[in-house]
Amino acid sequence: MRSTQKTLALWFFLIIMAVFLFQAYESKHQKAIADFNFSKFTEAVKAGEVATVTFRQDTSEVVGEMKPEFEKKYNGTHFAIIGNTQDEGYKFLQQHGITPNYERADNGGFFQSLLVNWLPLILIVAMFLFIMRQIQAGGGKAMSFGKSRARLLTEHKNRVTFKEVAGVDEAKEDLQEIVSFLKDPKKYTKLGGRIPKGVLLVGSPGTGKTLLARAVAGEAGVPFFTISGSDFVEMFVGVGASRVRDLFEQGKKNAPCLIFIDEIDAVGRHRGAGMGGGHDEREQTLNQLLVEMDGFESSEGVIMIAATNRPDVLDPALLRPGRFDRRVIVNKPDLKGREQILAVHMRKTPLGPDVDASKIARGTPGFSGADLENLVNEAALVAARSDKKYLEMDDFEKAKDKVTMGAERRSMVISDEDKKVTAYHEAGHTLVGKKLVGLDPIHKVTIIPRGMALGVTQTLPEKESVSLSKSKAENMIAFLFGGRAAEELIFKDITTGAGNDIERATEIARRMVCEWGMSKLGPLAYETRDNPVFMGMGYGNKSKEYSDAKAQEIDTEVEKIIKHGYDVSIQILRDHQDALERLTQALLEYETIDGHEVDMLVNGAAVAEIEKYRNTKKDTNAAIMNAAEKKGSGDPVGSTGPVTI
Ligand code: ADP
Ligand code: ZN
Repeated sequence: MRSTQKTLALWFFLIIMAVFLFQAYESKHQKAIADFNFSKFTEAVKAGEVATVTFRQDTSEVVGEMKPEFEKKYNGTHFAIIGNTQDEGYKFLQQHGITPNYERADNGGFFQSLLVNWLPLILIVAMFLFIMRQIQAGGGKAMSFGKSRARLLTEHKNRVTFKEVAGVDEAKEDLQEIVSFLKDPKKYTKLGGRIPKGVLLVGSPGTGKTLLARAVAGEAGVPFFTISGSDFVEMFVGVGASRVRDLFEQGKKNAPCLIFIDEIDAVGRHRGAGMGGGHDEREQTLNQLLVEMDGFESSEGVIMIAATNRPDVLDPALLRPGRFDRRVIVNKPDLKGREQILAVHMRKTPLGPDVDASKIARGTPGFSGADLENLVNEAALVAARSDKKYLEMDDFEKAKDKVTMGAERRSMVISDEDKKVTAYHEAGHTLVGKKLVGLDPIHKVTIIPRGMALGVTQTLPEKESVSLSKSKAENMIAFLFGGRAAEELIFKDITTGAGNDIERATEIARRMVCEWGMSKLGPLAYETRDNPVFMGMGYGNKSKEYSDAKAQEIDTEVEKIIKHGYDVSIQILRDHQDALERLTQALLEYETIDGHEVDMLVNGAAVAEIEKYRNTKKDTNAAIMNAAEKKGSGDPVGSTGPVTI
């Protein structure tokens, strides 16, 4: 196929070249007379200036040459006109002593006629052959609509191993088996074992499902195909199904390999579910997926991994044995996990001596792996903005605040009065938080507006707790009221700034009564929380399972808890008004103070001592870095952790 084509192309080329050469030759050696016509011709014949004449009868062309001596006169020798090539013309020429030659037009114009008659056909055939080849080679863009969009990432490019995935040890263990199977499929099948065809990774976005799948392929050293469920879904019925078919074909060709389908819920939704009724295209695609999964044997060495964060919406047929029958849960990382993930991503950045991954991990509950990666990235940007050579804890702090609370709104215009109220408000929270036992330590207080808040008091849990005691719940309510209490105590007036505090305190109080059995109404569940609503699978309801009389009792209990918290708060602030003043003054002066500085102020240190503390802290940091550089460890400390001298 390919060689015929080359020959064809060569001929084609040669013919065109020949035509051009011929024409070039002709025009060079035969100088045509411009503006020649029939009457001029007859006159020239009569005057005896014409040397030869040729009749081309089929085109009624009369061509010929002038005698050389008249070349000047006519500014050329050759002519071609349309004239009478029949008997009359012949006679006329004979009368003047010329005998015309006869010629069929195609004698001289062979190439031209070839060009005119055959060129279109040749072109069409050539085009056709070209397209055929494109389709066969499969590399062409034309006609590739039904191709799967799977991207192949082979072991050489961006190879990822389990080392780069941190904090999800259980998932890694579960997947270890798949790795060893991909490495040596025969070892398992020899003994008659049935290898899972499909593994479903379940976890919220950003927990590292894609990363895990890539690491499985990387560990096993097999090709990795990745496609997103939404790539299958197109406007046109049948396209998705054909893409599925193509994906499996590619997989089988490259076995052993791993096929990863991200967001499988985009295609694998429960058939017939959903508010809008059925969706033909999606159902066809899903059916094709099921058919293909049944059609291949995992002994061929192809394993599918799919990821979703909504396993509940998947069609049960997808989860049957022989399909995605293994489930691996990828949880959001816990404290330890977050620390490990941070360590993975911090390897890429130079770190200062005070960076403490475990402290950052404590301050980022609920962060996923992707969030943590983003955090490190933000910190690097913050550090770069102030031309630092390495990342310091401060940069991570700023990055964290930016990620969790939105950017600082320093440009926001705040009157001095508002600023003062905010300072007292935050100082109130802080002081109550310090004086009550069992609460998380205060990490930082600021009156720089951020996102929606005018000021923020941050706590940092020592460890992650899964349960909440009654006394801690009560103290939390008091802590939340610290801001409002300070406003009332100092200004004898209150502001809207406590809206969010009140909402959160009320929520805790209600749950204490209705869910946790922490009031005199006893351990009864008055409200049960249902699963979130899933469209088309029935609506979730918050069920109310008590009488109206009970409702009143509940309200009274909630009120009591709230009032108690508020009173505790006021009492603490009254008892320690001097500390409240110091905290407020420090906030007005520095805008942000950290946990250690809060401790100093609460324990009686004057505001001026903060300055001294800050200077020594800066000096130690610089000293450590200097020493590290002198020691010849070259660049700042990197992943080796804090340096001690
Ligand atoms: P998912 O597929 O679950 O939405 P990804 O695998 O795409 O999440 O994660 C996005 C990025 O977040 C990864 O490329 C990686 O850099 C980071 N990440 C997520 N989880 C982890 C983890 N457990 N360890 C290290 N990095 C992680
Ligand atoms: Zn507040």
